Amino acid sequence: MTQLADVSFEGTMLTPGQDGYDDARRLWNAQHDRRPAVIAQVRSAEDVAAAVRYGVENGLEIAVRGGAHSVAGASSVDDGLMIDLSRLNAVTVDVEGRRARVGGGALLGDMDAATQPHGLAVPAGMVSHTGVGGLTLGGGMGWLTRKHGLSIDNLESVQIVTADGSILRAAEDENPDLFWAVRGGGGNFGVVTEFEFRLYEAGPMIHYGLLFWTLEQGTEVLRLARDLFPTLSPDVNVLIAALNAPPAPFVPEALHFAPGYGLVVVGLSSAEEHAEVVDRIRTALPPAFEFGTPMPFAALQQSLDEANDWGHYTYEKGTYLPELSDEAIAAITAQVPLKQSPLSAALFYRLDHAYSAVDDDATAFGGRRTDQFAVFMVGQAPVPELFEAEQRWARSFWDALQPYSAGIGSYVNGMTDAGEDRIKASYGAKYERLQQIKAKYDPDNVFHRNQNIRPA
Ligand SMILES: Cc1cc2nc3c(=O)[nH]c(=O)nc-3n(C[C@H](O)[C@H](O)[C@H](O)COP(=O)(O)OP(=O)(O)OC[C@H]3O[C@@H](n4cnc5c(N)ncnc54)[C@H](O)[C@@H]3O)c2cc1C
Repeated sequence: MTQLADVSFEGTMLTPGQDGYDDARRLWNAQHDRRPAVIAQVRSAEDVAAAVRYGVENGLEIAVRGGAHSVAGASSVDDGLMIDLSRLNAVTVDVEGRRARVGGGALLGDMDAATQPHGLAVPAGMVSHTGVGGLTLGGGMGWLTRKHGLSIDNLESVQIVTADGSILRAAEDENPDLFWAVRGGGGNFGVVTEFEFRLYEAGPMIHYGLLFWTLEQGTEVLRLARDLFPTLSPDVNVLIAALNAPPAPFVPEALHFAPGYGLVVVGLSSAEEHAEVVDRIRTALPPAFEFGTPMPFAALQQSLDEANDWGHYTYEKGTYLPELSDEAIAAITAQVPLKQSPLSAALFYRLDHAYSAVDDDATAFGGRRTDQFAVFMVGQAPVPELFEAEQRWARSFWDALQPYSAGIGSYVNGMTDAGEDRIKASYGAKYERLQQIKAKYDPDNVFHRNQNIRPA
């Protein structure tokens, strides 16, 4: 067997029983307890290239771990090689040029920590312990999406290690086919060791509001949210969440853990604009409770961290909804009360403005660039005994929404156990082009622990 030590390798190699092995193999979703034969904790692109060659030469199945948040557990593998990018997490900021170079294993929090001192941000997701790698390669949506688009819409270039161990740069002017494919095609085309993003002004302070209603008011809340979006400037974003009220000091005790609907209103511009939107919502439908405060953008990015902590049993289904029609709302309000675990939730991210301004074919993103909602149905339980029911709930919720999804597939980062059909449905006409590019850069499908695109 080739030894990794035979090639130049700066990182650490862990095998079962060694100190650090159990920590390194742990994934965010407690459902997956995988035991790789080898974990290569890489420190450079050259390390990644050596690890890929080592895996291929020794016939080991390869998994690539960024932030370990794949709900499907794609970032580890039993008896194979896990390439652990978590130490490849440096972020450097060019303030003048408005660019950030971000290591392939960085977390969203690493990115915010480096960019926010300059009042800048990369448009990304809503939970700071998520990996930049997996999130970006699938698309990347969050608080700034209405204003600045997906993470991939703000990508300038990547450094990527392909299946033969080559270290390439991909950008509009270099390997443009590969650059197109990594903007939405997931980890199918290689291991990204560095992302170069455009930066925007964000924060350092934003305006935050949470308004909550009980289950009985679901129909009114969802209709209100539907009618609100067309009136909102891209400086305000609203997340619709079917969730349980937290046991927080601002929540009346009788409502601690009560299931219901929340609207999280985030104002990126003036206090007045934010207050005007919150006031309109409150007047139209007085909430059971509300909470509002200015907060640092970096704190907003961490505000959902605890609710999405490591170590729960999680199953997720995702779909797109072109609109919140009365029929879709009726389906949603019939499903939400059926969840049993207070950890389970359904989230509706609004996609419009900058998101919809990008041409459908400009990137490989699995989803149409029309105004819509990306819906995440997250079944979650603290212990395995309660998990089965939450999985069933997420599946039945997804089934109930399919008549309203216009057959436009799902966000590839929100699927747990999608087969080839669902993946094809998400990419639509782009799937064949992705297969051609896959055949060029990874003909043997070395990188298949992802939403897999089969080589042509
Ligand atoms: C708590 C939580 C919150 C989330 N919030 C959001 C959100 O707000 N917005 C959003 O868009 N999505 C969100 N997601 C979905 C998220 O984008 C995906 O789960 C994503 O795959 C996570 O990336 P990761 O690097 O943490 O995961 P990993 O499990 O490490 O990787 C996921 C996939 O990407 C591959 N991969 C990771 N890094 C690289 C790399 N550098 N090069 C090549 N392949 C790589 C892996 O091999 C694997 O196939 C959330 C998920 C969770 C669990």
